[in-house]
Amino acid sequence: MLKVHQLSFSYNTTSVLEQLNFEVRQGEHVSVIGESGSGKSTLLKLLHGEYDLDQGEIFWKDEQILGPKYNLVVGYEFMKYVAQEFDLMPFTSVAENVGKFLSNFYPEEKKERIAELLEVVELTDFANTKVKTLSGGQKQRVALARAIAKQPEIILLDEPFSHIDNFQKQSLRRKVFKYLKDKNITCIVATHDRDDVLGFSDRMLVLNNTKIAANAAPKALYKNPETALVAAFFREFNSIDQNIVYAHQLQVVENSDLKAKVIHSYFKGAYYLIEAETEQQQLFFEHPEPIPTGTDVSLVIKI
Ligand code: ADP
Ligand code: MG
Repeated sequence: MLKVHQLSFSYNTTSVLEQLNFEVRQGEHVSVIGESGSGKSTLLKLLHGEYDLDQGEIFWKDEQILGPKYNLVVGYEFMKYVAQEFDLMPFTSVAENVGKFLSNFYPEEKKERIAELLEVVELTDFANTKVKTLSGGQKQRVALARAIAKQPEIILLDEPFSHIDNFQKQSLRRKVFKYLKDKNITCIVATHDRDDVLGFSDRMLVLNNTKIAANAAPKALYKNPETALVAAFFREFNSIDQNIVYAHQLQVVENSDLKAKVIHSYFKGAYYLIEAETEQQQLFFEHPEPIPTGTDVSLVIKI
C-alpha cells in the first residue's frame, strides 16, 4: 500500500501541492488528472523520491520514500517511473534498451523476457532497430517496456501514451494496463486523456489549486461530476440552473420550455455536436444529424 500523508511541496516559493492525503492499494490503478500545471508530474516525481518534501511523508509498505537529501541514489527497486521525457540509450537496439536492467546471468531467460515485453508494447518487429531512429511514440513504448521489465511492485506513468498515434493507442493501452493488472502491479498514471482513465482506472485523483479536489471511482465522478473541471474531463457539458448537464443528456423534442437557436453542427463521427444559444446562454447537445444554422429547437434534459 502507498500512503501519502500531509504532503506539501513548492518549487522555490511557489506552492504546487498542499497537504495531500491519499492511499493506493497493491494492484490498484489510480489516475491523476488536473489541468496543465496542476502538479501531476510533480506529484509523480515526489512519489519517486526525486525531490525533498516541504512537509509530510510517503510510504510504500513499511519503507519511507525519501528525497535526495536523505537518499543518495534516487529511486527504489520496487518502483519504476516513466517520465514525460524518457531517457533511453539512443545508439543501442530496442531489445538492449528494454533489457538494460535485466540480469545477464540467464541469457535464454533474458531473451524470452525481452520478447514477452516487446509483445506487450507491440515492438516485436523493431527488436534490433537502433532507438535513435525510432519515432517519439516508439521511444515511449521502449521506455514503458523497460519500466515493466523487472516487475516493479508499483509503476508511475506520466502521460504514458501521449506520443503514440491513435492507430496504436487503443490496443496498446489495453495491453499495457491488462499486463499491469494481471501482474498485480500498482499503477499511478498522470494523464489528461480520459481514455487512459475510463475502463482502466479504479480511482481518480483530481488535482486543482494545490489540493485534491476529488478522489473517487471514475464512474462515480462521471455520474456526479460536481465541478466543471471534472465534467470537462469527461465530455462536453452545459451548466443549466447550476446543474451540470452533459451534451448527450440534452435531447431535441417537439416542444419544451428550453428553447434554443442552432449556431453550428460539428461532425463527431458517431454523432453531431450542436452548438446553440438560448436567450441566456450557449448550449451544446448531441444529435444524430446536423441541424441547419438558425433552426429553433426545443430541448429536454434526460437523466
Ligand atoms: P502538470 O504535470 O500537471 O502539467 P507540473 O507538475 O509539471 O504540472 O507543474 C506544476 C507547476 O510547477 C507548474 O506551475 C510548473 O510551471 C511548475 N514547475 C514544474 N517543474 C518545475 C521546476 N523544475 N522548477 C520550477 N517550477 C516548476
Ligand atoms: Mg505533466
